[in-house]
Amino acid sequence: MLADDVEKVLITSEEITARCKELGDEISKDYHDTVPIMIGLLKGSVPFMAELMKYITIDCEMEFMAVSSYSGTESMGDVRILKDLDRSIKDRDVLVVEDIVDTGNTLLKVKELLYSKGARSVEVVSLLDKPDRRLVEINAEYIGFTIPNEFVIGFGLDFDQKYRNLPYVGVLKEECYK
Ligand code: 5GP
Repeated sequence: MLADDVEKVLITSEEITARCKELGDEISKDYHDTVPIMIGLLKGSVPFMAELMKYITIDCEMEFMAVSSYSGTESMGDVRILKDLDRSIKDRDVLVVEDIVDTGNTLLKVKELLYSKGARSVEVVSLLDKPDRRLVEINAEYIGFTIPNEFVIGFGLDFDQKYRNLPYVGVLKEECYK
């Protein structure tokens, strides 16, 4: 069973739901005078986006983008668009939905990209934040949980495309990635 590969559960399904309710409330208040476009970064953000949206009580729209970040030889890293937006975001308030902010490289590039497409504002909601790993000066405006520097899986987060369907966030047993 998938769960047998999990060393420990860091955040339970119930804790995620409770936190999504709080974040949904906050976002609904902060964006009450606009119709934000929520842009989920595929694929990791899908379960989080689905849960969070249930608790957003204002009009909002839903879009997806897929990017892949690679560091290569550049110190800053770069981001490649694998799936672009279907619609214009010109003059719109954008809320990027992310699974985890780690080094921050992906978000920095995605924010730049969305502003270059004419967004009026770009803010970020991330299920998880690993501030110890940050390499660039960027933070999500809304954070579900701050976690220590451990590689986590579940609730959208994968290892080798597996474990995304776990209903909680956990740490993988060493034997599964060594
Ligand atoms: P960043 O550009 O902030 O370094 O990386 C963000 C991306 O790296 C996330 O969207 C996620 O796909 C991946 N990532 C970073 N930390 C983890 C982790 O602990 N577990 C998993 N599964 N993916 C991670």
